[in-house]
Amino acid sequence: MSDLRKTSVQDLLRSQDLDREVLVKGWVRTRRGNKYVQFIALNDGSGFHSIQVVANAEQFPEDKLRAEGVENGAAIAVRGKLVASQGKGQAVEIQADEITVYGSADPAVYPLQKKGHSLEFLREIAHLRPRTNTFGAILRIRHAMAFAVHQYFNDHGFYYVHTPIVTGSDAEGAGQMFRVTTLPDQNAPLTEDKSGVDYTQDFFGKQTNLTVSGQLEAEVAAMALGKVYTFGPTFRAENSNTARHLAEFWMIEPEVAFNDLQDNMDLAEDFLKSLVRYALAHCEDDLKFLNEQYDKELLTRLQFVVDNDFQRLTYTEAVEILKVAKQKFEFPVDWGTDLQSEHERYLVEKHFKKPVILTDYPKDIKAFYMKLNDDGQTVRAMDVLFPGIGEIIGGSQREEDLTKLKDRMAAMHVPEHELWWYLELRQYGTAPHAGFGLGFERLILFITGMANIRDVIPFPRFPGSAEF
Ligand code: ATP
Ligand code: MN
Repeated sequence: MSDLRKTSVQDLLRSQDLDREVLVKGWVRTRRGNKYVQFIALNDGSGFHSIQVVANAEQFPEDKLRAEGVENGAAIAVRGKLVASQGKGQAVEIQADEITVYGSADPAVYPLQKKGHSLEFLREIAHLRPRTNTFGAILRIRHAMAFAVHQYFNDHGFYYVHTPIVTGSDAEGAGQMFRVTTLPDQNAPLTEDKSGVDYTQDFFGKQTNLTVSGQLEAEVAAMALGKVYTFGPTFRAENSNTARHLAEFWMIEPEVAFNDLQDNMDLAEDFLKSLVRYALAHCEDDLKFLNEQYDKELLTRLQFVVDNDFQRLTYTEAVEILKVAKQKFEFPVDWGTDLQSEHERYLVEKHFKKPVILTDYPKDIKAFYMKLNDDGQTVRAMDVLFPGIGEIIGGSQREEDLTKLKDRMAAMHVPEHELWWYLELRQYGTAPHAGFGLGFERLILFITGMANIRDVIPFPRFPGSAEF
């Protein structure tokens, strides 16, 4: 194909520079036509829209295209002329001069049919679903959001720290962990009294797990760099087969020295709004498609979050509201119990009709590191609750007082010897600080309007599933 350089579909669709020879490579989304002309919708993933390739049937009769495998799913190159489109629906198209097939896809067996498929079916072909309009849009939005996260923090003076994936403590207090070991699964060495596996002989000389959160290590960095964040994979082995939980998900965790709970809420709200604003500004084609295809309220809801202040109230105030709510809940509400998703969504979707930040939860339902309030009963926790999602962020001001922290650890049976380094942060130059965790996939759920978290990550891990 001479020495013409290839151009992306996205660039061609935006091009004003017409009547020139171009080379484009991608996958056939559809081919249709008649005995005079064939139309190929070619998509290379560079953006939502495909480019229309017009193939004159004299040079490219349908029989020949079919014989060469120019069918849905085939990877091809097209050399031709970029011209103003004669038809409706696109500004430009390519008049094909030469078509090369890299790889055909037998239409008799290619799993992606023109008619479209259920999201459930697409989950079973996670290796092919990125080629659909829906997953192309979701994956591009995921990218844009990851980029926006780094941009926000960089613009606001935060440093990105890489916290470990393999952790030596199982005391992070956020759920069940996956074990990491190189010991043989049969005849693993036992402790002297034969009561269990001897992990001193394991790879790291101790029992290790996959991390459930980078927070504790982020606190280390915050006590030196001031404003930091982590953004990495986290793992939870809880058997929660819900539309909001994954066993492997990505979490964004800022941690800021000298911030109190108020500062923490301000940061969370500004951060979330800026991410939504970024999506609206940069993901227009993809969001428009999702809005039309899945959720007609999507764009309105996104704009609403940007335009309105989040409602802030305490857990205690929320319980009062829920107790007199007209709605019947599956789980009863009583001061001291954890709120369920149905309660969170009632507050957000029915009562306040906007995002909510709940603060000052009972100490017994929150992690050991949260700062105790003067009432001795509640801690400076905050959860951000979003429409359609429930909890999207969980965070707190951290306990910076060594004695109080040790008391909480004792009360909650968290062994001090495992977190000696965490305690030393309170021994040497301790300072007030606060942070939170934003589940990246919950954010993507909100931005895309998808209903199931398994549809917003390329390769979802959940109980019974790690095929791809
Ligand atoms: P939930 O009550 O919804 O199970 P959590 O309170 O256990 O969440 P945190 O430990 O506070 O969650 O984690 C911080 C954030 O990480 C949550 O607000 C949520 O956005 C996200 N998150 C937590 N667990 C999961 C999961 N299993 N899959 C996907 N995201 C999650
Ligand atoms: Mn939480």
